[in-house]
Amino acid sequence: MKYAKHMLSSARRHARAIRELATAEKSSDMTRIILPNNNTCNNIARFLRNLATEVAFKTSQTLGDLVRHKVRTSNTGERGVYSIPCRVCDKVYIGETGRELKERIKEHKYAMSRYNTNNTCVAHRSHTGHVMKWENAKILNKEADLKRRKCLEAAVIICSSTIAKHSGS
Ligand SMILES: [Zn+2]
Repeated sequence: MKYAKHMLSSARRHARAIRELATAEKSSDMTRIILPNNNTCNNIARFLRNLATEVAFKTSQTLGDLVRHKVRTSNTGERGVYSIPCRVCDKVYIGETGRELKERIKEHKYAMSRYNTNNTCVAHRSHTGHVMKWENAKILNKEADLKRRKCLEAAVIICSSTIAKHSGS
């Protein structure tokens, strides 16, 4: 069977693209984010791709499905964008931290003990009487770079049912 020249070069290009994608998949420092497939998130996806973040789409709207990191471990010793679910309602707190998550959680708990309503988790308690499910706090996306962390945080907040935004340090 004979193939037109342009078909062969197109096939070669595809093969190369697939190889490059496979290589990127193996890269441990590549961030992957899964967003719901809607207009808002399509715009976010374009933005994130410029930051060399791999973006995939899903139709599910639950937070657990929205954002997944490839490496699933007990991750309170890691840094990045994190979530703390409310113990009572279905809302979550989304934040980002450049330090270990367990240190950031300690600060949230300290703010709670002082009833510091500048803290969003405390404010949620003040408004609703709800408490956070601290033990289920987790890193959604590992990210060491501050700029990329902020972008990811914004993307996750837009796509989640949050109690409010609050940035960490
Ligand atoms: Zn709540």
